[in-house]
Amino acid sequence: MDEKKKEHLYIGCHLSSAGGFAAMGKTALEIGADTFAFFTRNPRGGRAKPVCEEDAEALRQLLRQHHFGKLVAHAPYTLNPCSAAEKTREFAYMAMTEDLARMEYLPGNYYNFHPGSHVGQGRETGIRLISELLNRVIQPQQSTVVLLETMAGKGSEIGGRFEDLAEILSRLRCPDKVGVCLDTCHVSDGGYDIAAKTDEVLEEFDRVIGLDKLKALHINDSRNPVGARKDRHAPIGEGTLGLAGIKSVICHPALQSLPCILETPQENLSGYKREIELLRKEWEKHYGNEGD
Ligand code: FE
Ligand code: FE
Ligand code: ZN
Repeated sequence: MDEKKKEHLYIGCHLSSAGGFAAMGKTALEIGADTFAFFTRNPRGGRAKPVCEEDAEALRQLLRQHHFGKLVAHAPYTLNPCSAAEKTREFAYMAMTEDLARMEYLPGNYYNFHPGSHVGQGRETGIRLISELLNRVIQPQQSTVVLLETMAGKGSEIGGRFEDLAEILSRLRCPDKVGVCLDTCHVSDGGYDIAAKTDEVLEEFDRVIGLDKLKALHINDSRNPVGARKDRHAPIGEGTLGLAGIKSVICHPALQSLPCILETPQENLSGYKREIELLRKEWEKHYGNEGD
């Protein structure tokens, strides 16, 4: 067959940015990844290192040469855009503004963040604060698309329901600069049976948010049953979603070519290498070797 492949599985995991940009690209190649995630700074906060232009250019070249999918950078966990404390909200504003400026060294990729926890202020206030922050942070000329992550609904987390994210999106001045990253562990914990009822959950996502807004996937198994709201990731095949559940997500026709990021608990990179191999094999079984 000489027809070009329409579907492709872009898959990778979180990589350490400690050695710089180009080093992440090399590590990705070593483990069979063709996308990856990285923290734009220490995940628990703190300042970011300045970007080296040569290092960024080396990575840009590697990504082109090896036909990588879009990267999915991750904002620090400590960032809470809807905190009750103004200081914490201002840190979120400062960190996101700096991170988005840095992302322009790698144009056209994604920057994912946790919408945050309203900590007793109520859902409506939380959604208002997040939308206001995004409207301050996002510049119409930026090339990065910011992604709201679907959350497990732990405590006062915003984003445990698709409706939360739809409401944030509806209040944005630059809605084309914002999309959604679906985390399979989180949506399952949030009460959506994505493993057993993939079609139904994606239909609901489409009805509430719109599948055109779905830009990336976090591929995780979960230690807990549907609706648990716990947010404990499990290695692929060792949790309640199971390999079959994960497979039904990565092979779903509506989700092809979205970057898939593993965030499973693994001791080292060889664990991710194994998971990438496993999921590529499962995906190939489904889509065949058409085009080879
Ligand atoms: Fe996350
Ligand atoms: Fe995630
Ligand atoms: Zn999580």
